[in-house]
Amino acid sequence: MIDAFMRKAMTDEDREKLRQAAKLVQEALGEDSPESLDNTPQRFAALIEATLGPANLYSPEEEMKAFPIPDGSNMLITLQGHAWSVCEHHLQPCELHARIGYIPQTIVPGYSKPVRLFKQLAHGPVLDERLCDVWCDEMVRQIEPKGCIIEVMSRHHCVLSREMVRDDEILTCTAWRGCFSEPLERMAFHMQQNDRWGK
Ligand SMILES: [Zn+2]
Repeated sequence: MIDAFMRKAMTDEDREKLRQAAKLVQEALGEDSPESLDNTPQRFAALIEATLGPANLYSPEEEMKAFPIPDGSNMLITLQGHAWSVCEHHLQPCELHARIGYIPQTIVPGYSKPVRLFKQLAHGPVLDERLCDVWCDEMVRQIEPKGCIIEVMSRHHCVLSREMVRDDEILTCTAWRGCFSEPLERMAFHMQQNDRWGK
């Protein structure tokens, strides 16, 4: 399932499709600013490619580099990451703040790897629930921990821009595997977190 997040390199044909899409939106909205009509399609295509196009942050073919840990270790490791993306339903911006915790069994990954994987998964249209599940499954596949838990909090423009919703509305998705099926283990994860959202 991780393979679905590994996008191919963008071609000139893809870039032209993006420019045409921007032109159609401008036409539908009655845009008549000469500067915008001349240059916005190009700017739109370049920004989409830079923020949502293929990224080389993580490759499923390269095993997550891992280091052995001593027998009998029983530590909870937590990391946080941040990314901008778009929702797959409206192609509108969303801001993602993620927390991951895992209790390793025999190996631990390099510190940056879990967050790079998250950023790779966010580099394209996302559904928060699927991102959580795929990230969790890939961590389990790569390092076979005793357990893994992931929490993704997000602010979606498609939700916040509607008047019935408060500006601080945050969606939270949590996925867990292994020992985190125990409520006490999940509680330990949540207690270890500092609430850094928005700081
Ligand atoms: Zn949406």
